[in-house]
Amino acid sequence: MASSSSSPAQAEAFPDGTSDYVPLRKKYDPKKPHIADQPMTWSNWYKHVNWLNTTFIIFVPAIGLISTYWVPLQFKTLIFSVIYYFYTGLGITAGYHRMWSHRAYKAKTPLKIFLAAGGSGAVEGSVRWWSQGHRSHHRYTDTDKDPYSVRKGLLYSHIGWMVMKQNPKRIGRTDISDLNEDPVVVWQHRNYLKCVITMALLVPTVVCGLGWNDWLGGFVYAGILRVFFVQQATFCVNSLAHYLGDQPFDDRNSPRDHVITALVTLGEGYHNFHHEFPSDYRNAIEWYQYDPTRVFIWLMSLIGQAYDLKTFRANEIEKGRLQQQQKKLDQKRSKLDWGTPLEQLPVISWDDYVAEAKSGRALVAIAGVIHDVSDFIKDHPGGKALISSAIGKDATSVFNGGVYLHSNAAHNLLSTMRVGVIRGGCEVEIWKRAQLENKDATIVNDSTGQRIVRAGEQLTRVSQPVASADAA
Ligand SMILES: [Zn+2]
Ligand SMILES: [Zn+2]
Repeated sequence: MASSSSSPAQAEAFPDGTSDYVPLRKKYDPKKPHIADQPMTWSNWYKHVNWLNTTFIIFVPAIGLISTYWVPLQFKTLIFSVIYYFYTGLGITAGYHRMWSHRAYKAKTPLKIFLAAGGSGAVEGSVRWWSQGHRSHHRYTDTDKDPYSVRKGLLYSHIGWMVMKQNPKRIGRTDISDLNEDPVVVWQHRNYLKCVITMALLVPTVVCGLGWNDWLGGFVYAGILRVFFVQQATFCVNSLAHYLGDQPFDDRNSPRDHVITALVTLGEGYHNFHHEFPSDYRNAIEWYQYDPTRVFIWLMSLIGQAYDLKTFRANEIEKGRLQQQQKKLDQKRSKLDWGTPLEQLPVISWDDYVAEAKSGRALVAIAGVIHDVSDFIKDHPGGKALISSAIGKDATSVFNGGVYLHSNAAHNLLSTMRVGVIRGGCEVEIWKRAQLENKDATIVNDSTGQRIVRAGEQLTRVSQPVASADAA
């Protein structure tokens, strides 16, 4: 039938979504409560452990570490191990992550095979399994549906999610139909164990053995221990990259940017950027940031193996950065004393104001706002006499250049002394109206609901009316 694009064999191998979540498929009965949903006890703890993953991630590396006692490290083997580390690491970062999980670029079949083989050598599951989990991670970041949510602890996000069994039904579902149609992905998934043994152990052993007769060294250092380092490095993308560093684009979730994470993970350390712009083939956007994976993909595009490299427009990236900066500014602004908001101040008649000032309280009206300057008189830089002469009067013009053109800082300080607002009808009202009419003194609130008071736009700042003779 033309209506079905997948062959019956393929449909059977990949029924759909999450039931195939575990790296090596096991019979899974959805009706029985999953072990991960049962409390861990002394009698069932071993059932909680994912022994297959634990073997690959912990036991085998431990055996490798112990065997270094008897196996000397040769210089050539060391150099090859480092090169093979970068190759298998790039299989994960450039292949598994940026190409297959995020479709940040397209690759010709030779590059696909090269990356799928390298990724197999990192022993982190098949492309299909890895990308499925990673898409859930992006879609459900920091929630219970995130397979490696850092909210469950740094250790859990790093390794716990693999060595302990997880209920596949809990993991958020994502669409991986594109991966099921990729022959390289399908082949690697079906032959995963063979791929792992070949790429993780056989190839490094044979290269070091045939190359310089270091069979055992190749097996231990370029094989087992190199796997351990690649695994731990790339696991840092799930742990460290959600824990350490800055959040220049969005601080509502856990992803962070840090150079240390970048150095460890072949450039996957600009993770705040990556979660905002996941389909960008870059992680680092500045020239000085370390992202060898980006350089590798770019080099591959030069020889035609990679194409359709996706980038977000600088305009969009800058918008995100600016909004986050604005948010941080708003938070800073909200911590400062800008004076009681006008709408919360009592409204006082002019006569009451004058009467209260006469009775001894040092009140000064400027631009329709009453200020209590009692505590400030002795500190007034212009001297006691000048400020005292304004008590009980309308000092709008005096304050704004009539006697002294006060500074921006003075207007800011004045606002913290506000105690009331004058009701209608006198000089200040006229000033106020003039201010509203003349000025672009639009009232703007920030994201915390606070009024933004820009320099030179304080309510008490009133420019001198321009003499009409000049304008004519
Ligand atoms: Zn992440
Ligand atoms: Zn990602």
